This record gives sequence, C-alpha cells and structure tokens, in this order.
Amino acid sequence: MLTIALSKGRIFKDTVPLLAAAGIVPAEDPERSRKLILETTDPGVRLLIIRATDVPTYVQHGAADLGVAGKDVLVEHGGEGIYEPLDLRIARCKLMVAGPIGGRVESQRRLRVATKFVDSARAHFANQGRQVEIIKLYGSMELAPLVGLADCIVDLVDTGNTLRANGLEPWEPIADVSSRLIVNKASMKMKHQRVQALIGQLREAVCAQTD
Ligand code: AMP
Repeated sequence: MLTIALSKGRIFKDTVPLLAAAGIVPAEDPERSRKLILETTDPGVRLLIIRATDVPTYVQHGAADLGVAGKDVLVEHGGEGIYEPLDLRIARCKLMVAGPIGGRVESQRRLRVATKFVDSARAHFANQGRQVEIIKLYGSMELAPLVGLADCIVDLVDTGNTLRANGLEPWEPIADVSSRLIVNKASMKMKHQRVQALIGQLREAVCAQTD
C-alpha cells in the first residue's frame, strides 16, 4: 500500500490531474466528504487529507510514504527524513516582503515583520544584514501593518489582489514557491520500485502539462 498525504484546496485540485495521469483517481471529493482517508481507483494507493503544514510531518515519520507540499512549508519544516525528488510546478506563487503602499522607509529602526514564515523571513533579513523583530502569526498577516502590529509582512503572493485590497504592495521578493513531491526516506528504500514508478509517471505528467 502507498499512502499519499495531500492538503485540501489548491494543492489537491492541482495534484488530481497529475495523479490521474498515473491511473490514480480519488473515490471522493474532499471538499464534499469529511473523510480524512480517501480510497482511490488504485487499490494499492490511498490519500490522507491533512493541513498543508502537517504534510511534511506525516511523511517524515512514515505515516505517509509520499506527500505534496509547498516549498514555503518545506523550508519552514527543515526537510528532515524527507526526499524532495520532483517539482510538480503547481500552486506557484512568490514569498514576498510586503507593506503599506508608499510606506517603505529605509530607516535604521528595527523593522517589525509579521509572518508565519519565521525561518524564511529571518534568513532573508539576516542575508541583508538587517536587524528585524519577527512577530509570529498564523494567518491574515495583511492585517498586522493596518493596525500597527508590524511595519511589514512576509507572505505568499499570487495575483497581489489580497495585498491591494488591504492597501499593501510588494516591497521585495524572497523566493519563488511551487509544490513539491516529497517521499519518506525509508519508503524510498523499502518500496523502491513502486515509489520510483510513481515518481516517473508524475514527472511525465508534469512535463506534459508544462510543455
Ligand atoms: P493573491 O491575492 O492571489 O495574491 O493571494 C494571496 C493570498 O493567497 C495570501 O493570503 C496567500 O497566503 C495565499 N496564497 C497565494 N498563493 C498560495 C499558495 N501557492 N499556497 C498557499 N497560499 C497561497
């Protein structure tokens, strides 16, 4: 049995066509079902539906053999116990520093940065030699500069609509983000043939989609 961990929403929606190319179709739609384990048309494959930030943890500990996780989530997790063999080129966006429109000041004052991407933000500002105070949040980062909790945020940006709707703009890019196939290190050894075959099928599907 191969167990694949996925999160609901964009990652699930974009992964389904890639899995379908490998002959794996979920028996149910997770948006309509409350089930956390979904059977598929392949009796040897099941899907776990979990929070995006929990996917690397399930794969690291072998509760799932494989998973799909954003590069942003993988950087924060650290990647222990996990291989990252394939960029699926889905759920693409940018990790950015953003703040109030026209509000960018190059002062020597310590910048207060609100984010859930604590490690990525810290590394980015350390590379610039900038001292910052990181304020950890779990969501709706865009609110923080509006109410004086922070000077700016580090968040994922796709269309930029969420920033604009809140009077914010991109200040500087940190990294391009896309979702990656991840594999438990023990599963890669113990289920080598099955895992390699699936990686090969997914790689072909990714190339066919982006050609
Ligand atoms: P947008 O308004 O299109 O720029 O999207 C920004 C909002 O969607 C922010 O709240 C982001 O955290 C979230 N977002 C955008 N792209 C992704 C992604 N690939 N994965 C997870 N969240 C995303």
